[in-house]
Parts: sequence; C-alpha cells; structure tokens
Amino acid sequence: MQRYQDSQLYRIRHSTAHVMAQAVLEKFPEAKIAIGPPIEDGFYYDFDLPRPLTEEDQVEIEKRMREIIREGHEFIRREVSAKEARALFKGQPYKLELIDGLERGGVDEYGEKTDEPVVISTYRQDTFEDLCRGPHVANTREINPDAINITFKAPAGAYWRGDENREMLTRIYGTAWQTPEQLAEYLELLEEAKKRDHRRIGQEIGLFTFSQLVGKGLPLWKPKGAVLRDLLERFLRDVQLSRGYEPILTPHIARVRLFETSGHYPYYKDSQYSPFEVEGELFMLKPMNCPHHIQIYKDELRSYRDLPVRYAEFGTVYRYEKSGELHGLTRVRGFTQDDAHIFCTPEQLEEEFLKVADLVEFILNSVGLTDFRARVGIRDPESDKYVGEDEGWEHATQAIIACADKRGLDYTVEEGEAAFYGPKLDYIIRDALKREWQISTIQVDYNLPARFELEYVGEDNERHRPIMIHRALYGSMERFVAVMIEHFAGAFPAWLSPVQVVMIPVADRHLDYAREVAAQLRDAGLRVEVDDSAGRMGGKIRSATTQKIPWMLIVGDRDIEKSAVSVRLRSGEDLGAMHVADFITQASHIVETKALQLA
Ligand SMILES: [Zn+2]
Ligand SMILES: [Zn+2]
Repeated sequence: MQRYQDSQLYRIRHSTAHVMAQAVLEKFPEAKIAIGPPIEDGFYYDFDLPRPLTEEDQVEIEKRMREIIREGHEFIRREVSAKEARALFKGQPYKLELIDGLERGGVDEYGEKTDEPVVISTYRQDTFEDLCRGPHVANTREINPDAINITFKAPAGAYWRGDENREMLTRIYGTAWQTPEQLAEYLELLEEAKKRDHRRIGQEIGLFTFSQLVGKGLPLWKPKGAVLRDLLERFLRDVQLSRGYEPILTPHIARVRLFETSGHYPYYKDSQYSPFEVEGELFMLKPMNCPHHIQIYKDELRSYRDLPVRYAEFGTVYRYEKSGELHGLTRVRGFTQDDAHIFCTPEQLEEEFLKVADLVEFILNSVGLTDFRARVGIRDPESDKYVGEDEGWEHATQAIIACADKRGLDYTVEEGEAAFYGPKLDYIIRDALKREWQISTIQVDYNLPARFELEYVGEDNERHRPIMIHRALYGSMERFVAVMIEHFAGAFPAWLSPVQVVMIPVADRHLDYAREVAAQLRDAGLRVEVDDSAGRMGGKIRSATTQKIPWMLIVGDRDIEKSAVSVRLRSGEDLGAMHVADFITQASHIVETKALQLA
C-alpha cells in the first residue's frame, strides 16, 4: 500500500499550501508566515496576520490561488546554508526560529523531532520561496485549480508550536483534490459529518455536558448518557464473565514508585499530571491500569495450572492533553478504558490471542460496527527501540498473523507499528461515512512481566516468566460513545437507545391511558417515557424525532377502545395501530436480538 506521504495527492496539497502562502503574502505583505504542512484530506498554513481574516479575504485569496496555479510556475528546490537561509527569511521570525532548530539538528522544518540528518532546503514557485523539504509537484499545472478550496472551513486560532505561552496565529485550512468531482464529494462528506458531530447530537439527546467549573476535557455524563454507557459496559461485563475473565477494581492513584518500576515515569511525563505529596510520599493519577493489575497478579504465587489469568476492569485513567487539542469526547483528560490483562504461558499465547480476537469481533458486530479491518503491528527491523528477545517477538508475531488468518480477517501487516514492548493487532472500524477509527487493540507485552519480575511455577517446578496481553475492545468508553453517535447519527440500535419508547397522548384526556401502557412496557423491560408536556402532538413527535427515540406510540380515543397504540418510527415511518401486547412482543424481540432495524 502506498503511503500518503508518497502520493501525488500529498504533493498537490503541499504545493497548494505554498501557493496559498504566496497569495496571502501578496495581500498582506507584512504577514509573518509559520508552517504549512499537508494533513489528512488537505493542508493548512499558519500566519501571523495584521488583522482578522474575513470571509471576503478568503474568497479573494482563493481566487488569486487559482490564477497563480494557472500561470504554470515551476517548483524549484535549492539547498542553502543556515546563514543564507537567515538572510532569505530576514523579517520572518518564525522561519528564523525554525532555521535555528534545523541548524542545531534533531528537528525538521516543522519543528518536529527527527532522527534524519537535516539539510536546509527551500522551494520556490513564482515570487514565493519557503523553507521546505518537499516533496512538491514539478509545476503548479499539476494542481487542478477547480479542485482546490480554502473557504470550506473558517480560519482557526493555533498557537505557534502548539504552545499556549506562545503567539496565537491564524490557521487557514485548505483542501485540494485531483478532480472537481472528488472535491465536491469531500465537501458533501464534511457537511454530513457536521450533521453527525457527536458534540452536537450528544447535546440534543442529552447524553453529556461540560462544566467550566469542573474543567476542560472532563465530560459529565447525564442520565441518558450514563444509561448508554452502562448498557455497553454491562453487555461486555457479562460476556467477559462467560469467557473466563475475572473482574477486579483498582484505585485511581498510586505511588510514583509504581510507575517508575513500570517505566511509565518519567518517560511519559509529558502526558501525565504532576505528582502530589501525601505524608511525605509522592503519588500520581494513573495514566494506565496495567501496573495496578500486575500487583494483583503478584499477590499470589502462580502455578502453570492457574494460567491464563484474565483480569478485567473498567479503569479510569488520566492523561494530559493540551487544551487546544481537546475535542468533545474523542480527546479528553480523563477516560475509562475497558481494560483487561491476560497473563499466560508462551504455549497459551496463540490460543488466548484467538479468544480475544473472537471476543472483539463478537462485540463489534453486536453493537452494529460491522465494517472493520485489522492491522498487525510488527517491529521495524531497522530500529533498536524494542525490548525483549528476538525469539519471543518472532513467536508472538507468528501467533498474531496465524490468528488473523484463522479468523479470515481483512488485515495488513505494518512494520514499525508494534509497541516497543511487543507486536499487536488493532481493529479499525469504518463508520457510516467510511471514516476510519481505530477502536480495539490486542497487544503482546514482554516488557512489564520482566520489569515487575512476574513468575509462575511451571510443570518442571521451575520459575518461568508469563507473557502479558493488554486488550481493550471499546478502547476508551468516551471515544467509543463518540464513534457510536457519529456512526448512527444518534439513532442507536434499539437495545442501546437510552429511551426506547415515548408515549405521546393525542390530547390531555389520553394521558392516563398513556401512563398505563407505559407501565406495561416497563414491566416488559422496555425503557419508556411519557411526554406529558404542555405542547401539541406535532411538537412532541418532532422532539422525539430529534432525540432519535426508536418508537413513538401515539394514543387517542380509538387506541383506547381497542387496547392499542399507533406506532411511529423515528424515521417517520408509520406502522399503524397495533395491540399493546403485539407491540411489546415485537419490540422486545428487536431489543433482545440486538437487531439494527426497528421493523
Ligand atoms: Zn513546504
Ligand atoms: Zn495494559
């Protein structure tokens, strides 16, 4: 598979970013330019502008970009010394800072860490020259002027180098495709994604909220959101019990010593919260659950007969994310993992892996995420960052590939995608808009068993080291719920809908009957609400539709006469009148079988 970075589309987008910078500089000669990399589906460029950008500016810049593209300028590369570069970018403080970094080494022209030797190079098209490593198209003619757009998204603020203490810059986003049709398709997809934005739908359905007093990136689950989460958790908990997992519970903090032993501290310090002192000892919020789980394994001497041990916990962990990078439920500062750790012998590894894979696929299919592929992450043969013996790695890698084959998975093997402590299998789902989300992960670990000196007594009466498997199926509950919301646009399968049925009386005199039916449905295990608000029936139907409640049961005089309800689906489809008992049988069947359809 060709990497994005090697594709023509990548060169087109990178080149269009340069063209945009030229157009911006022509309009604002006093502007300072920062960086402008290609990103997934497009590119951006950060500017320090003399005034906020208006929509008219954007339109004008886009128009000028098309002219520049049509003029057919070549992209010309040259290598320069740090001194020449400084002269060239005199008056451009951000570029000068980047040149300093390039000269010192260890960072690239975007200020990102790199191991590669850095050559200072520039690319020029027409009047614009940028500090750049490339690659670019040979000529602006390779860009389709009718397949670019910088007006689809409002410019956003971005801190220089992502640092909140530095200058706030204006980030202009753009996108470029090979044909106008591709561009139109992409813009349409964006529109659809906007409609499905989990932040907006989460608000509409009343799933979660945020409070400035509680703090950024710390979601608060409202009753309906808590019901949804509980349904997902309960489902997995029950399945895990039936598959030999044992639930455990561990605290949210631990001594820093624990994470020093695991190696997570100080190496991942940047993504953790500062330790705090309690009675002279340092503690911290846990960034992961593994070290806690390991302490439970270590509490007893294990025999090979005890293995595999499978510990599961919905464990809440805390990781630092810059406030600029927080996003709804997908990037938060505290989240709950459906975490489990399996301790097994090398002989058991393949079978355990297969069992976890079976569980992953069962869960994904059950919740309606049925379109997925897998990625086997193996070592980069050229890197020496990995811990553990070659033999173990080879064995585990073979076990994972064998597992993927046996399960008939659509998978790719990707070098360098392994964790430093072992190879892994990731599941990537495609949602309704064909966007990919990495959800489940199963990882083999040789590192932590060694660091914590884990043991079991083998058949030979000798001490051996177990292998650990880390696995999470939903991944983070927060992110998973976000993916579910966006995939279903809030219209969850009935079994996961926080409210499954809403009773809508035609007039006030039908309220008693509505309550009576609601009680019967509740007895049958359905989650039901009665809309006894003051409004009219039409408004109530609209409100239930917005909340994506699967079934609306409208009741009036004729329904009362026949002990019936008039059934309407959230799609607007009208199923007509139905005897209450028949509705209960039908709805219960749909819920119990976890069906995706409502009729
Ligand atoms: Zn560039
Ligand atoms: Zn773990």
